Amino acid sequence: MKFQASDEFNVSHIEPATHIYGPGTRFTLWVQGCSLGCKGCWNEEMWPKRPRTLIHRIELLQQILRAPNIDGITILGGEPLQQAENTLWLLAEIRKHSNLSIMTYTGYEPHELKQMGYWKPLLEFADIIVAGRYQEDKRNTYLRWRGSENQQVIYPDNSRLAQYPDESNDLEMIISEHGAITTLGYPEQQ
Ligand code: SF4
Repeated sequence: MKFQASDEFNVSHIEPATHIYGPGTRFTLWVQGCSLGCKGCWNEEMWPKRPRTLIHRIELLQQILRAPNIDGITILGGEPLQQAENTLWLLAEIRKHSNLSIMTYTGYEPHELKQMGYWKPLLEFADIIVAGRYQEDKRNTYLRWRGSENQQVIYPDNSRLAQYPDESNDLEMIISEHGAITTLGYPEQQ
């Protein structure tokens, strides 16, 4: 059966356990598609909105809820709020069915998210929101979880997480069972 497009995430990449995109061990989902066009973006291959890997949101939810030994989930991209209906649905369902902490990145500024009607549900469901465009001239590789100084790390009132110090410079290398190496994070030198 073909699901409706609106019920499918356009996914760029999934790592079932990372350690640098939020506290603890996290299921990490990179969505495909972003039109914000930040100069110097590290994930340009995630800009096109043409389908990359389509995953029904219920299947994705089940995959997350079944993932072993994780503390939470992080969504980044690409732009999660350009798949807002599915992203907000997923965050709400994870809150409802688990104790997993929820972190989401967005290139939108809080005032833009308010105008679009996404701010309230984000504050309700997310434990950490990293908001704002990546600005190359404000790049700083010693910031925890964000790439440029203008971006904001927001802990909503509903957050179940304690605030973390803002400084860090983490890299992670994941070696698959087939020997493929994936490097996550942003090294000081390109
Ligand atoms: S919002 Fe994120 S993915 Fe989109 S262009 Fe900016 S840095 Fe790249």
